[in-house]
Amino acid sequence: MKEITAKEFKQEVLEGGKVAVDFYSSECPPCEALAPKFEGLAELYGDEIKFIKIFRQDNRELAESLDVNGSPTVIFYNDGELVGDKLSGGIKRSDMISNLNALLPEQKATEIKNKIKPRVSEYDTIILGGGPGGLTAGLYLCQAKVNAVLVDIMLPGGQVSTTHKVSNYPGFVDPQPGFMLAHYMSEQTKICGTKYKVAVDVTLVDLENKTIVVDEFETIKAKKIILATGASPRYIGVPGEKELKGNGISYCATCDAKYFHDKDVIVIGGGNSAIEEADFITKFAKKVTIIHQFDKLQANKEAQEKAFANPKIEFVFDTEPQGFEKNGNIVKIATKNMKTGETATLKADGVFIFVGMKPNTDLFGDTLETDDWGYIKTNEDMKTSIDGIYAVGDIRSKKYRQITTAVADGTIAAISITKELDS
Ligand SMILES: Cc1cc2nc3c(=O)[nH]c(=O)nc-3n(C[C@H](O)[C@H](O)[C@H](O)COP(=O)(O)OP(=O)(O)OC[C@H]3O[C@@H](n4cnc5c(N)ncnc54)[C@H](O)[C@@H]3O)c2cc1C
Repeated sequence: MKEITAKEFKQEVLEGGKVAVDFYSSECPPCEALAPKFEGLAELYGDEIKFIKIFRQDNRELAESLDVNGSPTVIFYNDGELVGDKLSGGIKRSDMISNLNALLPEQKATEIKNKIKPRVSEYDTIILGGGPGGLTAGLYLCQAKVNAVLVDIMLPGGQVSTTHKVSNYPGFVDPQPGFMLAHYMSEQTKICGTKYKVAVDVTLVDLENKTIVVDEFETIKAKKIILATGASPRYIGVPGEKELKGNGISYCATCDAKYFHDKDVIVIGGGNSAIEEADFITKFAKKVTIIHQFDKLQANKEAQEKAFANPKIEFVFDTEPQGFEKNGNIVKIATKNMKTGETATLKADGVFIFVGMKPNTDLFGDTLETDDWGYIKTNEDMKTSIDGIYAVGDIRSKKYRQITTAVADGTIAAISITKELDS
């Protein structure tokens, strides 16, 4: 692996054969998450492929000329030609490997795969999921000197990272951008000393044996596991929804609202997330139409009052979408009035869906006791039906799912574990 500057780019990269280039920055958590993976892969593939690092802040002109606008960004070259994917953000080892393998003959790629040595590590506690619940558990465990590792398939932060503004987390007078709150939480836990394995693939979770496998080669064993994998947006489940996801239909206003400047947008849902996010989308969009299945919104009074007072927001009540279709850049939504049975077609430049969440429990099979909606049941100490396995945050069966309640669950699980390990 070699660090270069823009001056050496031509010689080292363009004339360098097969090359992987990592543009990184300082004070960049996703760059820190990538660094050990990049280094490990450099050791593995180093005989065949050159691994180059470039400090983006000092080589901005070069980065911009290559359309590299964020850190980390990894790009691949084969004999001077840009090939493969441009990887950025929380870069997974598996995505790096598929791009590196594409540079090599199949046999060579298999040879390298066979060289990968399995690794086993042991901790007191594994925390699966780095949202507010998992991060708080990590903080308390670390302060109690419990050896813990936090594992996340993405970068830490959870749903908070994609929330536009959080105004109800105690301690902040002004509403906080969600990604900043997530960043503060993550840094506090990391600086304390909890180990992070983030932007990884979790390929196996064996709750009975308290073992997980990460990136296929790393087995992590522990005495306790905290499940904190949170929840994901629920699909409506009508024709066209899955096909248009990311191409006309979005589940994240923070991520995508900016693409709808001066456009017509439809928001589906009537709870807090739908109403608050619709209000946020009006910062960009010309008009936001909220389609809701009932004749009243479910959001709290404050959010409702704000939305009703917003001149850019219109409402279509008692109505459910029946299907989505895209015509050029326009999304067509077939709707049905649930009271009159009347059908209609609405059109918009984009659709945002906020119709609730579902627990991220797929990896755990049916090993744990859950409620009728699939949320994991726990006792007061956050213990699940399997000894040594805890569940915290949105994944847990409970009435209210908020950052504060996830943080409280994480606290309780960590204290409970600390006491058990001490005794
Ligand atoms: C649009 C929106 C706005 C919101 N606004 C507010 C608000 O203003 N105030 C408030 O209090 N609450 C708000 N919430 C709710 C709040 O964000 C959640 O209650 C809270 O984030 C739950 O925290 P958590 O730790 O349980 O899980 P999450 O935040 O869901 O985090 C779970 C983590 O687990 C990871 N993960 C998932 N699967 C796996 C796996 N298999 N292996 C490892 N890791 C995995 C995910 O990548 C993620 O990082 C909002 C939610 C949404 C969607």
